[in-house]
Amino acid sequence: MEDSLRKEDPLELAARYLRQRRELGEEELYLSPGLFDSIEKSPQEKSELLKELYDSSRDCTKCGLHEGKTNYVFGTGSASSLVMFIGEAPGREEDLQGEPFVGRAGKLLNRILVAIGLKREEVYIGNILKCRPPENRDPLPEEIEACLPHLYQQIDIIKPRVIVALGRVAAQTLLKTNLPMSKLRGRFYDFNGYPFLVTYHTAALLRNPQFKKPTWEDMKILRRYYDKITGENFKFYDEE
Ligand code: SF4
Repeated sequence: MEDSLRKEDPLELAARYLRQRRELGEEELYLSPGLFDSIEKSPQEKSELLKELYDSSRDCTKCGLHEGKTNYVFGTGSASSLVMFIGEAPGREEDLQGEPFVGRAGKLLNRILVAIGLKREEVYIGNILKCRPPENRDPLPEEIEACLPHLYQQIDIIKPRVIVALGRVAAQTLLKTNLPMSKLRGRFYDFNGYPFLVTYHTAALLRNPQFKKPTWEDMKILRRYYDKITGENFKFYDEE
């Protein structure tokens, strides 16, 4: 487990673990609704903590990528989101605008969110790297190592109920594996106590339309899990 997560309050870790067991259907555990909510931070506290983290990390120089960046691309969305998406790194548009997933791939992500009944502002979207690699090349291992603590701190503040890795770099990095996407996608993992789902990056969907069908299947898995958490019952457009 990473250092930033290791420091987490053991009571909070226990609460999250028990709640996850309940969501997975372990009926013998009786946990009254809200029992652990009081030990979680309020939405306002989370927002303030994220802002503090942004302010303290925006001038980061821990790897060479800071030299070529236009903007530090921290992340966007609700600090108290139930769902956190994690992509790879800012591209050209993201670097220019200072926000992740705003180019063509971002617009596709927005459409996917709409299709599963979620709004962009309801979820949190971040990346493994906060500064753009030149020519959108793959992140180097040392860049990932330098940047990951920022992401771990974001996760630690937001404490989402489910994390979705968008693409190979996010999935392989966080799951510490070299397995290909075809083997990783479509199922849940445990990432430091968080339910963790893997699907294709929307930029890959733009290049490879054959990935759209499996991605839609993954998004349905996500939405069904979200319904389980919230008690909602979303109807997919292709299942009505
Ligand atoms: S990519 Fe990450 S580690 Fe590198 S300079 Fe930017 S914020 Fe710092």
